[in-house]
Amino acid sequence: MRSKWSDEEAAAFVARYGDEWGTPLALRTYSSRLLGSEPGLVLHGGGNSSVKAPWRSLLGEEIPAVFVKGSGLDMASIDPAGHPGLDLGYLRRLRALSDLDDATMVDQLRTHLLCADSPTPSIEALVHAFLPAIFIDHTHADAILALTNRADGLAFAQEALGEEVIVLPYLTPGFRLAQAAADALAERPDAVGMVWSHHGLVTWGPTARESYESTVDLVSRAERFLESRRRPAAVTGSVAGPVHAEGGASNESRSTVVPLIRGALAEHTGDCDRPYRRVVVQSLTDAGMLTALAAPHARENLVSPPLTTDHLIRTKALPLWLEGLPSDDDVALREQIVASVDEYCRAYEDYLARHESAMPPGVQPFDSRPRVVLVPGVGAFCAGPDLREAMIARDITAHTVAVKTLVAETAGVEPAIAAAGSYVGLPEAELFKMEYRTLQHAKLSRASAVAVGTTGAAVKSPAPAGAPPLCLRGHVAVVTGAAGAIGTGICWGLLAAGCLVAATDLPGEPLDRLVSDLAAEFGPNVVGVSLDVTDSVSVGEAFARVTTLWGGVDLVIPNAGIAAVASLADLDLECYRRLERVNVEGTLLVLSEAARLLRRQGTGGDIVLVSTKNVFAPGANFGAYSSTKAAAHQLGRIASLELASDDIRVNMVAPDAVFSHGTCRSGLWAEVGPDRMKARGLDEAGLETYYQNRNLLKARVTAEHVANAILFFATRQTPTTGATLPVDGGLPDSTPR
Ligand code: ZN
Repeated sequence: MRSKWSDEEAAAFVARYGDEWGTPLALRTYSSRLLGSEPGLVLHGGGNSSVKAPWRSLLGEEIPAVFVKGSGLDMASIDPAGHPGLDLGYLRRLRALSDLDDATMVDQLRTHLLCADSPTPSIEALVHAFLPAIFIDHTHADAILALTNRADGLAFAQEALGEEVIVLPYLTPGFRLAQAAADALAERPDAVGMVWSHHGLVTWGPTARESYESTVDLVSRAERFLESRRRPAAVTGSVAGPVHAEGGASNESRSTVVPLIRGALAEHTGDCDRPYRRVVVQSLTDAGMLTALAAPHARENLVSPPLTTDHLIRTKALPLWLEGLPSDDDVALREQIVASVDEYCRAYEDYLARHESAMPPGVQPFDSRPRVVLVPGVGAFCAGPDLREAMIARDITAHTVAVKTLVAETAGVEPAIAAAGSYVGLPEAELFKMEYRTLQHAKLSRASAVAVGTTGAAVKSPAPAGAPPLCLRGHVAVVTGAAGAIGTGICWGLLAAGCLVAATDLPGEPLDRLVSDLAAEFGPNVVGVSLDVTDSVSVGEAFARVTTLWGGVDLVIPNAGIAAVASLADLDLECYRRLERVNVEGTLLVLSEAARLLRRQGTGGDIVLVSTKNVFAPGANFGAYSSTKAAAHQLGRIASLELASDDIRVNMVAPDAVFSHGTCRSGLWAEVGPDRMKARGLDEAGLETYYQNRNLLKARVTAEHVANAILFFATRQTPTTGATLPVDGGLPDSTPR
């Protein structure tokens, strides 16, 4: 590891933040970001940092203060307000207490903040108060954990880092650890750093740079020591598993196994309309992961407690290990996956029962399903209730597997012989205590409050009490014809409801532009996928891509369609066949692929087909469109008959003319509009008004309206399948009947 310190960058932070926050906090912000930018040091809110500086009160009095990172905040993107200030003189006096429980400690921290609306300081705030140095950096560095998380961890770490580093045995984070750290340093005031077994590293210094570079130096020392002891195991046999015999985890093997895993990880809710709480799955299938999973004793070594206790709320104490999966029998494959997940759940419930007396009041147990599934030959699959949390579980798993493998490879004996048990995690009682610690759960509730805040946008007004929210958190949607006006509106609506959206269309600028617009608002919750609905290979590949990306698909919106204007007398057969291929065959291919995938997952699903009012009230000179859309509509109704027994609901929305969505003009109306304008002697604005005035409500139909109709079905507000919801302002001639 190398220092990334740059005097120019440091000066830029001082220039940007110094006037408002002071130089010490500006530099604290800079070096915290340096730590946060190194995933081998901290991951997703792990670690913390502080600086001590005088603070001037409103009355002009100067008091000593410590500015400590807020609990759960990400160092990579922290700003000065992310280090709330505390009354240092008062906090230091707490050291004399014999004990301090979590709730009182948090109360003491919050009541001694210098600014009332600051975030709650880190659980390790008292360490920062009790240690004397100006700057203090605390990380959960991989290389340090690879030293300590083994049978002889304390001696191994001491040997690696030298006598100038204090190595403490594991202590539960909080008051006692802060006392122990301060006592140890008081005895060894010349120490340059401190290792906490099964936890991480603390360094300090009079300047931001010295403290940061001390972290870099000690981590580098640990890395060099480990490398000198490393004896990689020779992998015996094939790295790739039975599911796919050649060349590692192919897309094919992933898309075979992932939807079954995702289906088995969905929690039963007991609600007959929404029977499953779905998860998003993130995969790790690189060569390094496959090699680690194929190493001798990989199972004993990897099915072990996490590197640090802050990972517990993301990954649980243990992953599920799935091996010996049948390669050629889908039914047997599913049965084995489901049976293994069930067995894991029973073991987790037993673990909860064993520690019931230690459960803090008011803390709800997690569901019993695994968060991480390791499949030799295929990869690691990491689940979370939404993409963000699944990505956190994935990143933690990547580092966890790498560190555990490194521990086995540096065990001092031939890994093939004695790697089993070389990694040593914390005992179960400590794991339970930390998994269900109220302070840890506060981090999750903050995260989900943020998630609801950003995903509830579709619901403009508060939902009535007791009504299920229009929330599709954890759901994955495939929208075809996404780059058109209606498709664009559907994508926005689904994303705003918390759904992950694969926006599919023919490759090209309109799709790229749409995805870049959506990504600016919704980040990685949207991807663009090239899809030609008339090509079965393209349809299959697009669904497989979404499956490998997020674990599966729950909602399919067949929306792609094209139009042409001609009387039957003048209708060119090739033109008709072109519409037939997109509107009928395209719908059929998407319905077929969706049906196969949704059935394999085994957690039901929804298909909402974008039909048209023309199915019920066709227009003259519009025969090719009206008849091909009618055929597509009929396919949707048939799908509702065929798929109901798998709890796959198929419904239709039937909009009247939607001219545009934002800047996206409707391709269909570009085709049809000129003819309609000519026939009625109207300009474009006049035509829109004409359509508005012909419905009972005099409503202008928008893509948002279509999206809302889809959300009605997708969120399962009523037990309905095979139905059509008009979105037309009321057109008596086209009322479905
Ligand atoms: Zn820590």
